[in-house]
Amino acid sequence: MSEKKFNRTTVTAALIYANGPIHIGHLAGCYVPADVYVRYLRAKGEDVAFISGTDEHGVPITIRAQKEGITPQEVVDKYYTQINQSFVDFGIDFDIYSRTSKPIHHEMSQEIFLQLYNQGKFVEEVTEQYYDEKAGQFLADRYIVGTCPVCGNENAYGDQCERCGSTLSPRELINPRSMLSGGTPILKETKNWNLPLDAMQPELEKYVASHPEWKTNVAGQVRSWLNEGLKPRAMTRDLDWGIKVPLPNAEGKVMYVWFDAPIGYITFTKELKGDDWEKWWKADDTRLIHFIGKDNIVFHCLIFPAMLMADGRFIAGADNVPANEFMNLEGDKISTSRNWAVWLHEYLEDMPGKQDVLRYTLIANAPETKDSEFTWKDYQTRNNSELVGILGNFVNRAVVLTEKNFGPAVPALGELTEADQKMLEELALYPAKIADSLDNFRFREGLSLFIEVARLGNQYLASTEPWKVIKENPERAATILNLSLQITASLSILAEPFLPFTATKLREMLNLTDTNWSKAGSASLLPEGHSIQNKGLLFEKIEDAVIEAQVQKLLDTKKMNELASKTPAPQKEAITYDDFSKLDIRIATITAAEAVPKSKKLLKLTLNTGIDTRTVVSGIAEHFSPEAIIGQQVSLLANLAPRKMMGIESQGMILMAEDRDGKLQFIRPGEPIWNGGTVS
Ligand SMILES: [Zn+2]
Repeated sequence: MSEKKFNRTTVTAALIYANGPIHIGHLAGCYVPADVYVRYLRAKGEDVAFISGTDEHGVPITIRAQKEGITPQEVVDKYYTQINQSFVDFGIDFDIYSRTSKPIHHEMSQEIFLQLYNQGKFVEEVTEQYYDEKAGQFLADRYIVGTCPVCGNENAYGDQCERCGSTLSPRELINPRSMLSGGTPILKETKNWNLPLDAMQPELEKYVASHPEWKTNVAGQVRSWLNEGLKPRAMTRDLDWGIKVPLPNAEGKVMYVWFDAPIGYITFTKELKGDDWEKWWKADDTRLIHFIGKDNIVFHCLIFPAMLMADGRFIAGADNVPANEFMNLEGDKISTSRNWAVWLHEYLEDMPGKQDVLRYTLIANAPETKDSEFTWKDYQTRNNSELVGILGNFVNRAVVLTEKNFGPAVPALGELTEADQKMLEELALYPAKIADSLDNFRFREGLSLFIEVARLGNQYLASTEPWKVIKENPERAATILNLSLQITASLSILAEPFLPFTATKLREMLNLTDTNWSKAGSASLLPEGHSIQNKGLLFEKIEDAVIEAQVQKLLDTKKMNELASKTPAPQKEAITYDDFSKLDIRIATITAAEAVPKSKKLLKLTLNTGIDTRTVVSGIAEHFSPEAIIGQQVSLLANLAPRKMMGIESQGMILMAEDRDGKLQFIRPGEPIWNGGTVS
């Protein structure tokens, strides 16, 4: 930690592309830790602005638009609304969640771009880039496909081959073609404005060196970029979706998305704070913290600081960038394109009222130092044995025993025993311990300390046994329950960063209004006679069936992915149309089906072919029961020469395909066809 005294904190959480929904990887990597941290600062009464929004420029947006057949604006409108709603429902409590497509952000970005330009900070560079003459535009890397020089994949992108994972540049592709027109692009000269990161390296090294407290995964990545030597990076692109470059000779050029996106943090602060915004970005006593995932480290630790330094009017870089590694899901990398994720909007629908259970599991498994893993089984265990078994159990016993024996009010505190004193001394240590974890971005550790407080409560109840004491010594029982409620009150304060929905419920149960962090750990949060109300169990047990349904959902996804990745057999030798026209394929309906005696594989089917009723013997007995297929339409090769099988003459062959599991499926029309209708 730096020695400096700060009076306010600007906390940003990554601007996510508005081209798809939020999943647990995003939450664990960035949004949950950011929200925990901000709620903690607020609980301490600190001045904090929590800023985020969607990144609505860049090629991923235009690619999505092309895929969905809608305009880029429609893409960002759709996903901004969905993402924002998910965050609201999940309790990520931003002070503002805005969008980079707003005019105020275009103005801010252009103003900063001009500031850099006017101070001579950019270096102009003319390079040759691929240009699609038919479409009349330069091609972003993702809009060029060609053969990978490494593995020969014919559909490698201009920036990466998805088959072998090689990082590529468009000029390396063999036989490049444009995804816009399909044509061969030409090389054409274009001018761009570069930020000379190479020249700025000494300044950036000094900045990084002034933060030895950064997490090792972050510092390690930054060091490796610096060791390689920074290269100039173009801050403009030839693209039609984005923020226009505000120079007279820059038609058709927009800002590089990583130039304008981080400026979004500044814009949104201005949107939030109005005329008061500047101190949040310019004052010496302001601390800036970026929460991001590991894929954004270079942009937040080097490129954005370089922009701010070049501009000269702002805090020159964040005080800390506590980036997380990635969270995997059930043994595999989370992937949007493979639909391998737990989507937040689906979770909220499937598991209503269980926001805190997911938060708890994500914090407990946060990928703080290395990649981590989410499994549904672990989610269930965390809920059932920790939230229900430890936290919920303690609070429920304290409240129910009080209500039953003393009415809904805090009982009187009598003389304290040595054990009481010892428990209170221990309790008093926790707020500072948890604060130390959170100050240092060790959220897993903070959460486990929080649960220890509930564990302390359970141990206290187990050793003092108020349910037994009440008979002989009600005064002593009153003291025990008074202290148990004081622990509960501390829990309600300490829960706020981690489990905000639970914290709210606890505050309501205890009618607690002053919940400043400094009050936690005290033995006198609730005065004698203070009324409380039981609001029921904090957490409910999650049954196996609920977990199995979620696991099944993922298994279904896996199956779909396997089907999509199955390698088809190579094409057979060419035939003439005459060859094909000899085949008499027509639609028929199965009118009867029965097993062939003494055969495991064969079914005897009766078919209505439109031209006759005939018998076909088919080797599908292991795949279908006879009753299940009566009435189904199938495709029949009708003029296959009849042959005898197990003594029955089969007059034709039913067309089948094998699915991924090796199970046969009928080839049949999507809509009912008249019997005898030919396939041609
Ligand atoms: Zn390749």
